[in-house]
Amino acid sequence: METLSQCPVCQSASLNAFIACKDYTVSKDTFHIVQCASCGFRFTNPRPEEAEAGKYYQSEDYISHSDTRKGLINNLYHYARKFTLKKKLKLVTSVSSKQKGSLLDLGCGTGAFLNTCKESGWQVQGIEPSADAREFAQKTYGLTLNDVNAWEKITGNSLDVVTAWHVLEHVYKLEDEILQVKRALKRDGTFVVALPNCSSADAQFYGQYWAAYDVPRHIWHFTPADVKRFFEKQGFTLQSVLPMPWDAYYICMLSEKYKMGSVNYGRALVHGWASNMNAKKNGNTWSSQIYILKPVK
Ligand SMILES: [Zn+2]
Repeated sequence: METLSQCPVCQSASLNAFIACKDYTVSKDTFHIVQCASCGFRFTNPRPEEAEAGKYYQSEDYISHSDTRKGLINNLYHYARKFTLKKKLKLVTSVSSKQKGSLLDLGCGTGAFLNTCKESGWQVQGIEPSADAREFAQKTYGLTLNDVNAWEKITGNSLDVVTAWHVLEHVYKLEDEILQVKRALKRDGTFVVALPNCSSADAQFYGQYWAAYDVPRHIWHFTPADVKRFFEKQGFTLQSVLPMPWDAYYICMLSEKYKMGSVNYGRALVHGWASNMNAKKNGNTWSSQIYILKPVK
């Protein structure tokens, strides 16, 4: 395990205990999330060493790598994904103002989104640390994905869009990665970042059981204010924030399972709906949000 002594956003050494959460997916161990006393940023601390992190992804339940269809939740996930893949592509087209172009998906998992983009004429590249996921993408979609050492092959100012759908919360050397994204994007390029929002109503309701804490795989736990502060520091401007209303239902189903031992779908639907209603009223409190960022070049 590795312990950070400073906040990675503002470098303050004043860190307070925030919450202890169990890893329900793989290890069943308990991990701690701390909160910076100065800027409020939350992160898993201590966390597994980067070289050890892979073993916390070794589970058939870890859906983005295995593409499992076991159980109702996973089936609902696949159904929702089919729908959301098209919506994501539409979003990319709209925020980049391009019908087609060059796109890199960071942490692309089994490549379903890249395949959707490729089919509509985009030139696509993907970076994915899991060898199993890369193999799946090759077999299923004929996509050759890169491992994490691919950045050196990617020319500066060459990409129209970089996407990171629920990925950056997993990335150890986050500042290095974002620096590479900034370098590779064209001057008018767009960085599309989806992240869970730990200041959402469902996060507050489920507390330690909130499924999107997903320790120790999630090492950073962003609020919208953290996102703005962090990316501005890295040389991006935040252009807009978009909701991901379907995520509230998925996260509430998993959270119910963690809290009660089994899923009460009715309760999960009610809490997912309540979280979305809260976000509709207050803005910026969706369970997951998409941040549209532009590089300052
Ligand atoms: Zn801080």
